[in-house]
Amino acid sequence: MAIALVTGASRGIGKATALQLAREGYTVAVNYHHNINAATDVIRQIVDAGGKAFAVRADISDEAQVLAMFNSLDREGEPLTALVNNAGILFEQSTIENLSAERINRVLATNVTGYFLCCREAVKRMSFKHGGKGGAIVNVSSAASRLGAPGEYVDYAASKGAVDSLTTGLSLEVAAQGIRVNCVRPGLIYTDIHASGGEPGRVDRVKSLLPMQRGGQPEEVAQAIVWLLSEKASYVTGSFIELAGGK
Ligand code: NAD
Repeated sequence: MAIALVTGASRGIGKATALQLAREGYTVAVNYHHNINAATDVIRQIVDAGGKAFAVRADISDEAQVLAMFNSLDREGEPLTALVNNAGILFEQSTIENLSAERINRVLATNVTGYFLCCREAVKRMSFKHGGKGGAIVNVSSAASRLGAPGEYVDYAASKGAVDSLTTGLSLEVAAQGIRVNCVRPGLIYTDIHASGGEPGRVDRVKSLLPMQRGGQPEEVAQAIVWLLSEKASYVTGSFIELAGGK
């Protein structure tokens, strides 16, 4: 048995991924930020289905909390072989003229620094160089890194561009250490992230622009993540899967 850590796993894409990874036989570390009840519910669903999971609290933008989270994984007695960097934030629509430094820093701290910190701690545990068994990392980026979203959230788009570059660079750095690093780029996926703002009808407007004429479900993203982490993707690293309905 091995541990898969999924950040932001109490809802949305992270939750769907945690449930599917448990079905694949991983012991799932369900990271959450605030909502212990939601994390506990995910664990209950996994255990009821015959799987194994436990909760780990951490704000991924806080280095001390990330270190404490990974140290707690070390005490579980199973190796960490999979990391899903999923936790992310998106604020309400804003043109660049209205972006505060505080907002830009918060988006980058979670969506970029948080991913870096979790990658760093995972590599220390997975790498052949450090006596690890190898492993795989999937970073959840966004179609926004390629497409942008004019007048909406250039801070978020730029943060996901950094996730793409992190994926490419790290995949090369750790390939010979037994670690694969890949990325998924979801488009419009129906989760609570869209509750944070935007003009009325925005989701329907975006949907109508998609070749497939529909948004995606979190489970459709989770399937790709699970595949990238699996042995079926054993020769895949530095790759990007677009999950954006044809965009
Ligand atoms: P969501 O808001 O439902 O889930 C995000 C999760 O991240 C939440 O559980 C939240 O508590 C957690 N989180 C936020 N900040 C955190 C922090 N500092 N530390 C720990 N956890 C934190 O949204 P989602 O749609 O499931 O998003 C998951 C990922 O998918 C994000 O990285 C998001 O940018 C990306 N994404 C989503 C969409 C979409 O349309 N839903 C599209 C492209 C990319």
